[in-house]
Amino acid sequence: MEKTRKILLSEKEMPTKWYNIMADMPNKPMPPLHPATKKPIGPEDLAPIFPMELIKQEVATDRYIEIPEEVQDLYKTYRPSPLFRAYNLEKSLGTKSKIYYKHEGLSYAGSHKANTAIPQAYYNKLEGVKRIITETGAGQWGSALSFACQYFGIDLEVFMVRISYDQKPSRKLMMNTYGAQVTASPSDRTKFGREILEKHPDSPGSLGIAISEAMEIAVQDSDTKYALGSVLNHVLLHQTIIGQEAVLQMEIAGELPDVIVGCFGGGSNFAGISFPFLKLNFTEGKNIRFIAVEPASCPKLTRGKFMYDFGDTSGMTPLLPMYTLGHNFIPAAIHAGGLRYHGAGVLVSQLLKDNLIEARSKKQKECFEAGVLFARTEAIIPAPESNYAIATAIEEAKMADEEGVSKTILFNLSGHGHFDLTSYDKYFGGNLEDHELTNEEIEKSLSEIS
Ligand SMILES: *Cc1c(COP(=O)(O)O)cnc(C)c1O
Repeated sequence: MEKTRKILLSEKEMPTKWYNIMADMPNKPMPPLHPATKKPIGPEDLAPIFPMELIKQEVATDRYIEIPEEVQDLYKTYRPSPLFRAYNLEKSLGTKSKIYYKHEGLSYAGSHKANTAIPQAYYNKLEGVKRIITETGAGQWGSALSFACQYFGIDLEVFMVRISYDQKPSRKLMMNTYGAQVTASPSDRTKFGREILEKHPDSPGSLGIAISEAMEIAVQDSDTKYALGSVLNHVLLHQTIIGQEAVLQMEIAGELPDVIVGCFGGGSNFAGISFPFLKLNFTEGKNIRFIAVEPASCPKLTRGKFMYDFGDTSGMTPLLPMYTLGHNFIPAAIHAGGLRYHGAGVLVSQLLKDNLIEARSKKQKECFEAGVLFARTEAIIPAPESNYAIATAIEEAKMADEEGVSKTILFNLSGHGHFDLTSYDKYFGGNLEDHELTNEEIEKSLSEIS
């Protein structure tokens, strides 16, 4: 039989609405609480930091939300993204299972982050916002938002987690090229940054700290808003373009996945590939499994606690009901910078709590080994984050072989690793360390939140 390696959709077939899982999930998430009053927050509480349209999307319960035409236009610079059957990888594993992947590394940013950067910049522009402040971990979110802001005529300032700033100078230069200003975090630009530097002059930074710095500046200026690249409901909503395309592409392939895998930082690419397929479980009685994969060094889903916690370190954000390691948690300096976040998105946390999805953790060496095998078979160098999904897809294929069954596995390739080659160099040189937290470390971090 003829092999189809690459399943493409035409521009005309690109979905024109985002899918909102809030409409179909059995238990709706608990509300975010005001950090001071501990009462559920209203739209006006968020108005200083987000444009109203995004606040509406944050709480919307409509099943579908229209993608504005200007956003669709810019999506089409890289969408629909291809879905591949990993024949070469399957062959090298000698597996009976079928492995598919959705390639989100072809956007201008090199990752799925562009899918939400574009609409976020667009809605800010509609409401007359002149400047956005954001944070970035590995640099992918900052790069994605830099171009989107440039396109819509908004100034962008980015607080980049110190360790990534040092590990990945090219990501910073990419943001500069698209016109953004980049500061290493913690910085002396904010009160909170100065406090951290005083106590820990060599702090590697964390996403939680960078979010606090960005928000501190954003709330001081009425023409300035803040933007977040993961975790929040509206971000996960925008990413459902991935899974909706993948549903159509798997139909063309004539298959329904048995298992869907995504790596997990705050939950946006995992939600993006999963939610439109979860809809099939909810509304058509399908029985697809979903696995979110996180680093063993930052295991909020598998070893954290489900409770109200802050999204940032200084406690400026609303309290969110989520799986968390505590907002003071500073993860080890593993190379999957995008997965080093202390908490999990509210929607994904609720779904995990209700056992509608699964979570797994992995150490980084196994993931790099899988990433290198993938590069050498499928000809794409994956982002270190995506390696967690690849390693799990391979693990699922091997487990199926041991059981003597053939499964259809789909994973999201969240980005390419062209800016991350020094981490591959470390892997080849035997200089990557595996980190695993002790129970004491986790309990200590969790005990600091009430
Ligand atoms: C940011 C990022 C992630 C992790 O973030 P999620 O919101 O969990 O998707 C994963 N992979 C890549 C390539 C990223 O840029």
